[in-house]
Amino acid sequence: MSRRVLLIDDDRLQYRLTAQQFRTFASGDYELDWSETYDDGLRRLLTGNYAVCLLDYRLGERNGLELIREAMTQGCRVPIIFLTAETGESVDIEAMNAGALDYLVKGEITPRLLERSLRYALKLGETLEALRRLATRDQLTGLLNRREFDRILQEETERSRRFGHPFALILADIDHFKQVNDTRGHPAGDAVLREVTRRFAESVRSVDRVARIGGEEFAIVMLEADAAMARQQAERLREKIERHACALPEGDPQAVTVSLGLAVFPHDGADAAALVQAADRALYAAKAGGRNRAVGAGQS
Ligand code: GH3
Ligand code: MG
Ligand code: MG
Repeated sequence: MSRRVLLIDDDRLQYRLTAQQFRTFASGDYELDWSETYDDGLRRLLTGNYAVCLLDYRLGERNGLELIREAMTQGCRVPIIFLTAETGESVDIEAMNAGALDYLVKGEITPRLLERSLRYALKLGETLEALRRLATRDQLTGLLNRREFDRILQEETERSRRFGHPFALILADIDHFKQVNDTRGHPAGDAVLREVTRRFAESVRSVDRVARIGGEEFAIVMLEADAAMARQQAERLREKIERHACALPEGDPQAVTVSLGLAVFPHDGADAAALVQAADRALYAAKAGGRNRAVGAGQS
């Protein structure tokens, strides 16, 4: 399979040279594209079409370090190899700190060195991605884990304070889940958790974040959402779980319901901890009120 490599460099000569070196590679595994400017380079990098990026240090008025940082804040995970004309140590360290995986000095680059660097960057990029996944995801459901939820919630409260946009938190807990385990067995319980996950994931907006924050407890962070939107979403989730029983590996499908509590930042809680507490109180009220219902923080 051919992998697409993006060269971002304002120097046409460098492009010609790199293209020439690509043609001499022993394997025909790489295909080279070229971006001449910062903006075009950033745009293409964010398309997700590239396996590796070769990035020039000097890009007209701007600089490659800036581009790496901007790409990373926008969620770019493409491994980046830095190219520079200078041999100074500080550029090297700065590039690594900004997130580049390797650093090549123009003029010292041979086809062998370049191909080796591409191969290493790809491999290291895959390893980093796997580690990132292990650190941020729950193994059973693939949802974000508790730690990542805490981090996102902190980030969103800060963003919300800065820009003045509210956001909502929904906590959902499966009703009488212990009974499912007790009567159908633990593997059946796991199947229910995965099915609930699947339905939640297909019911939320693409910007919303879904986490598994406890055994049978989920959290949904809804960006730029007010109480009315959160209430509607919580009701949709509740209905979606109630409507069909969950298929199990063996035996009859298992009917389950969820209870939900929701709270809006900053109205119902002025920081992350207070917001979770408010949503949790609402969830408790939903349980106490008979389960299979959604309750807002204001209502409890
Ligand atoms: P409630 O309606 O009040 O929420 O009752 P509940 O039975 O759902 O609540 P409780 O907290 O008593 O029970 C949660 C159960 O979830 C207990 C535990 O065995 C089960 N559980 C936690 N993690 C997992 C998991 O990963 N897989 C399975 N199968 N069960 C799990
Ligand atoms: Mg429960
Ligand atoms: Mg629980």
